[in-house]
Amino acid sequence: MTDTYADLGLYIGGEWSGAERTASVLDPATEEVLGQVPLATPADLDRALEAAVDGFARWRAVPIAERVAILHDAADRLTARADHVGRVMTREQGKPFAEARGEVLRVANALRWDAEDARRAYGRIIPSADDTVLSVRHEPIGPVAAFTPWNFPAGSPMRKIAAALSAGCSIVIKASEETPGTACELVRCFAEAGVPAGALNLVFGEPAEVSAHLIASPITRLVAFTGSIPVGKLLAAAAGAQMKPCLMELGGHAPVIVCADADPVAAARKVAAAKFVNAGQVCTSPSRLLVHQDVYDEFVAAFVAAADRVVVGNGLDAGVTMGPMANQRRLKAMDEFVTDAVGRGATLVRGGERLDRRGFFFPPTVLTGVPDDCRVMCEEPFGPIAPIVAFTDLDAALATANSLPYGLAAYGFTRSSATAERLIRGFEAGILSINHCGGSVPEAPSGGVKSSGYGKEGGPEGLEGYLVTKRISHLLVD
Ligand code: NAD
Repeated sequence: MTDTYADLGLYIGGEWSGAERTASVLDPATEEVLGQVPLATPADLDRALEAAVDGFARWRAVPIAERVAILHDAADRLTARADHVGRVMTREQGKPFAEARGEVLRVANALRWDAEDARRAYGRIIPSADDTVLSVRHEPIGPVAAFTPWNFPAGSPMRKIAAALSAGCSIVIKASEETPGTACELVRCFAEAGVPAGALNLVFGEPAEVSAHLIASPITRLVAFTGSIPVGKLLAAAAGAQMKPCLMELGGHAPVIVCADADPVAAARKVAAAKFVNAGQVCTSPSRLLVHQDVYDEFVAAFVAAADRVVVGNGLDAGVTMGPMANQRRLKAMDEFVTDAVGRGATLVRGGERLDRRGFFFPPTVLTGVPDDCRVMCEEPFGPIAPIVAFTDLDAALATANSLPYGLAAYGFTRSSATAERLIRGFEAGILSINHCGGSVPEAPSGGVKSSGYGKEGGPEGLEGYLVTKRISHLLVD
């Protein structure tokens, strides 16, 4: 274990603890073991659930102004530690330090936004037809069980923690065992800011064991998950068996349509920047590039030039713009996508093979002329592979874009407002960007349609999932 990584622990009922069973945390840039993450036992999970009951009672009773002040304090602590937490994230996940530090600052802002939005969880008084006073209130749903992945080690946990605590809920969160240090650092900020014991509990463990245990418990009132569609379906089914609501932020396979009237060079640069951020391990990553035949050659040339400018290396080294894949599984998946595409007739223009060095490095990879039935055109690649295909008819391109069960993000490039409107209406996706590749922001909802999930994160809609609505009809009596 190295000194400069992070103290890893379970945080239950306001106390940090270890566990007998542990798993190694790897640095994907060096394959060095950074530390051991404790894995919770069923007894630890029961303690976390009991703590969440007490924590909910305490936290929901904290007056809103005080609650908001505590959450702002946590956000300020995190902001002040952005360098340290960013380094922890780079070491365990691989993304370049500037990206990691930026993520920390962004999530601190998202926390501030959610906390302020909780002040506006207004109810209403409704003019009634009789002598009753008819009103509607929003109340915290109760203890939340949340599960987050490794690609945004701060972003994913914070989305859930910020919304749950802002709404007045308690939460038991199982963050990724592959990126536990960042989650521990986030939780430390909340604990030091004065979030009461039990309101926020952090566990790690065997994912299937932990989710089965937490979802089955009658204490859990809401299940919030970010991750792959197959796992999301499993968890939603387990929650459905208990009639528990879920928020499901699942995978995507975002189409990009570049129309004949778009500036192909500007579009290529923007799409390449979005494609290679976090080595493509982003659920909204542009991953099926459909480019009009008239601008195809120019787009491909500019895209390849942008790919060539990406500097791959250890995210802690100056000048590096793309780190390694976060784990060995992604490296293997990239190999398989490329082999399958080339075997079916695609042209490999750049990259395509893991780099011959220690660490899970895979280069920016560009495939052209990719047949529709290639795996990379059908399954979320979750890596730095860009398949580019030409089209001539916009309706056919939209049909291709919508042909998969995914419905998370989509991107369109055109100078025509009429064509832009056609794309906006035509894309089956929950997150659209026109003429750029916009990222998520605290003030607007993000979330998918179709198999990409349901429920939103961010914006007022983000808080709604953590609240229940009560109708009260009050007959005044003397
Ligand atoms: P995976 O499907 O095994 O795991 C995805 C995430 O779910 C991980 O964080 C994992 O710890 C967790 N998980 C797995 N089984 C679980 C269970 N039974 N209960 C609770 N949590 C569980 O795959 P992976 O190799 O980690 O990631 C690969 C795929 O996952 C990618 O191809 C991508 O499609 C998807 N993914 C999506 C997102 C996203 O933001 N939507 C994030 C990470 C991974």
